[in-house]
Amino acid sequence: MQPGVEAEYQFPHEGVSVRCELCPNSCIIPDGGRGICSVRVNRGGALFADGYGIYPAVHMDPIEKKPLNHFLPGSSILSVGSVGCNLRCLHCQNHSLARGSPLGLEDSRIPPGEMVGISMKRGSVGIAFTYNEPTINFEYLMDVLPDLRGSGARVVMVTNGHLSPEPWKRVMSMTDGANIDVKGFTEEFYRDVTGGSLRSVLENVRAAFDMGVHVELTYLVIPGRNDDGDQVAGFLQWVRDHLSTSVPLHFTRFHPDHRMTDVPPTPVKTLERIRGEAVDSGHEHVYIGNAWGDGFNDTNCPGCGKVLINRDGYSTRVKGFKNGICSSCKREIYGVWK
Ligand code: SF4
Repeated sequence: MQPGVEAEYQFPHEGVSVRCELCPNSCIIPDGGRGICSVRVNRGGALFADGYGIYPAVHMDPIEKKPLNHFLPGSSILSVGSVGCNLRCLHCQNHSLARGSPLGLEDSRIPPGEMVGISMKRGSVGIAFTYNEPTINFEYLMDVLPDLRGSGARVVMVTNGHLSPEPWKRVMSMTDGANIDVKGFTEEFYRDVTGGSLRSVLENVRAAFDMGVHVELTYLVIPGRNDDGDQVAGFLQWVRDHLSTSVPLHFTRFHPDHRMTDVPPTPVKTLERIRGEAVDSGHEHVYIGNAWGDGFNDTNCPGCGKVLINRDGYSTRVKGFKNGICSSCKREIYGVWK
């Protein structure tokens, strides 16, 4: 295949090996080898970003599917996915893309100039980089995001947040909205189930929030792995201490997949219990995902309790609410509304 562009954050190691510092994995890659993410390749002592512009998945999705419930509700967003991932989640629900490699996908390369044109497609509010981990396509993002933002398109990242601090801030400085996974709340869980580092993710969540990016968090609840009171309470406490009780939280249902087929789907009552704990500890916007139930994804005013956005599947009805202000009690609601 045609090599991608030369990669940033590469450092000489020994001989013709290189060390990549784009993400906390700090892969040491021998000549001819690939990093854990599978898209960064050492050729003769130089690291190349072979995933550059490779987007085999392109779909128009409801913004609620990202999930983002407080970001232009009811809108559609062109969603693009590449291949590769820098985590190795045993339960990966998107492993065909996440564990794929760019080899043989040359035809799906979208030059940065064309991405801007695609984003103008009728009815899309911008581009969501999603399906696989978008930030490992760092060099492409650096080339395309300024033009996307300049064209007025909104930029959304659906990300695991597992990147080194400097490149993360560079991506977030050109991002409007992010749904970031917090996959569990112990280093042990991250190491054993995802191959990543919780501390790095939390630092990045906080950085994005402090930079003014609209942030929503997804916590996939896995029975017996991260649904215990300590992990959930620790997560909620961290959000209250470091972000805000207004940050939308999505507790989503696990289904057996990939290399975790011995764990049953999350009981809906577990999700309802966790939602109750979150609401009781002061969180204002708590949603249940991958499960259908009355009010699981409605947005209520935390001031007066009125339903502001009614969601039935991906059908969204905004009512009693304008430009982020509750029409009954005038409470301002966290989000991007226009
Ligand atoms: S971005 Fe890829 S190659 Fe670089 S450190 Fe992370 S997993 Fe390794």
